[in-house]
Amino acid sequence: MNATSFGKRSHGGARLPHRKHTAELETVAMPAPQSVTILMSQHIGVPCKPVVKVGDMVKTGQLIGQSDKLISAPIYSSITGKVKAITEVVADNGSTVEAVVIAAEGEETLADGIAPPKIDTLPDFIAAVKASGLTGLGGAGFPAHVKLNPSNLSEIEFLIINAAECEPYITADYRTLMEDTDDVMGGILLVKEKLGIQNVFIGIEDNKPKAIELYTKLCADKAGVSVAALRSRYPQGAEKTLIYETTGRVVEEGKLPSSVGCIVMNVSSVAFLNSYIRTGVPLIKRRLTVDGGAVNEPKNLIAPIGTSVKDIIDFCGGYKEAPKKLLMGGPMMGLALPDDSYPTKKSTNAILAFTEKECREAPMTNCIRCARCVFVCPMSLMPVGIEKAYEARDVQTLKELKTNLCIECGSCSYVCPAKRKLVQSIKLGKALILEDAKKKSAQKPAEKADQKAAAEPEKAAKTEKKADGPKKAAVKEEAVKEGTDNGK
Ligand code: SF4
Ligand code: SF4
Repeated sequence: MNATSFGKRSHGGARLPHRKHTAELETVAMPAPQSVTILMSQHIGVPCKPVVKVGDMVKTGQLIGQSDKLISAPIYSSITGKVKAITEVVADNGSTVEAVVIAAEGEETLADGIAPPKIDTLPDFIAAVKASGLTGLGGAGFPAHVKLNPSNLSEIEFLIINAAECEPYITADYRTLMEDTDDVMGGILLVKEKLGIQNVFIGIEDNKPKAIELYTKLCADKAGVSVAALRSRYPQGAEKTLIYETTGRVVEEGKLPSSVGCIVMNVSSVAFLNSYIRTGVPLIKRRLTVDGGAVNEPKNLIAPIGTSVKDIIDFCGGYKEAPKKLLMGGPMMGLALPDDSYPTKKSTNAILAFTEKECREAPMTNCIRCARCVFVCPMSLMPVGIEKAYEARDVQTLKELKTNLCIECGSCSYVCPAKRKLVQSIKLGKALILEDAKKKSAQKPAEKADQKAAAEPEKAAKTEKKADGPKKAAVKEEAVKEGTDNGK
């Protein structure tokens, strides 16, 4: 099958400079650092609980955290050493989470019992995906065993491989495409076969012509598998955008891709899955891009999960100058870090350190009502209206403007000539909606209890009315209406 050009369908999207400086840099493996801090919450869903204690010796690939809840994924040690601490740390998103700190000790040794999983049936496959610890490596961090086990599996028609990598600077997925070709194709065919999906699209932005050419050749003799060459327009890699671009289907508000017969997987996720099925080594390290003017030697590297940003920057020759801004993730959706002590997670695809010159920002001014933010929004939202509703703390309008549909791509902020901090206001608007919902659900049991309490004396009055005659019951009913109990 040949590559097919896609991309004339979508609404919005921003044209960004690509700045893929590291695209041709082959990946290097980073040695184990002196210590790692492995967060027990590095996925969407329920955090894991540590299954090791301080002082335990652990081997690489040994289970250190798990949860019995469905939406979660086990966590494994990424180095060999001793558990130094189990403590609470602040994660890159500002939340406080439990973490296992492991200090390197002894020779790097794989945990006992690591072997390729035995897979005969679909449940075996899903169990293996869960055991691998895989959560979406593209950034969202959704547990893969949940994604690959939809309740309507027989209705799934499309497997869409997200290799768009539309954020500037990041080239980790591109290097996976170019260096781990066998695992990428093996993983795609594995998921296709196990889940019985007929059609696969590998979505690659057209700013990666070598990858498009390579995979078009590789797919030529694979029935039902083809490359979708996507227009380079940010955010092509957003799940809903990618589904629309490749299939023309629209995922409705609050629904999952499976509701329109699609499963979307990141390219590094399918490649990892294939390597897990080959080797049995769970998710303990990942490929990430290190770039930005403040870094001496930008690289694509594979680092143990839990390695600190500082250790990674040191491996890249240290800072050229003190960074003005340090990001975990890309410049559009990444999180700014206060310092370089933060550990990487399963979802960390980039570390960017920018100089003052690279971060220069024009001052924020009043909105000039140009509507650029509206035209660029891939979700057809009205960012300027949402900002106003947030400033007024108007939860009702925030809901009416579908604030929760925002995928936080940052396109609106990027194009705004007044440099309004739109995406920040939208994120805070979402938090306001959540807070409001929590308050309301907390009120409900209290209201129910009040209603029940009010109903009790009413019921008692009726019973008494029957037993004691109309006069006494009338006094009791009056007391209930007035909220007193003086009818005794
Ligand atoms: S409103 Fe949300 S989805 Fe729309 S452009 Fe802004 S950040 Fe992206
Ligand atoms: S892009 Fe900026 S200036 Fe233009 S309408 Fe939106 S918020 Fe206002």
